[in-house]
Amino acid sequence: MEKNTSLPNKLDLDFITQSLRGKQKTKTLKVAARCPSGHPSVIQVVPVDNDGKPFPTTLWLLCPSLVSQITHIEYSGFAKEVSEIIESDSEFKTKLHQAHLDYILLRETMLENHKYKDTLKTKGVAGSENFSAVKCLHGHFAQQLGQQNNPIGKLIQDRFSIECKTPTIQTEQN
Ligand SMILES: [Zn+2]
Repeated sequence: MEKNTSLPNKLDLDFITQSLRGKQKTKTLKVAARCPSGHPSVIQVVPVDNDGKPFPTTLWLLCPSLVSQITHIEYSGFAKEVSEIIESDSEFKTKLHQAHLDYILLRETMLENHKYKDTLKTKGVAGSENFSAVKCLHGHFAQQLGQQNNPIGKLIQDRFSIECKTPTIQTEQN
């Protein structure tokens, strides 16, 4: 995965709209990671949704191919194994807490003087309030790909061979 934080271009915005199929609840601020073929794999989104409500998921796993592979891993019961690792491995647990704090800090950079700054302070990766529980593997994986270390995301990368199978979008000739 190429690490390249950048503003979304026109092609990225089209890909985002297509991938989210109308579930676009908030605006995309940046592309936090890209798949090898160039489309956004993770987007950094504004923590306030289009209706003005707090939106705790900040790093969003976007690539449909990656999303479905992580969903598959989730169905396999992997989260239970991760929970056991969190319980028994204090170093892993410490890294996970740090990941939640990094996530909150990233969100705070977008909420300067905003009324939701305190509301969202307690919500870590993907809005999770319990920093020792596994809520959503997609959220942890998105953080790992999107410029921040996440031990659960790293474990997924080490254990499974996750590769993007989303077809490359054709670039427009202007
Ligand atoms: Zn992809």
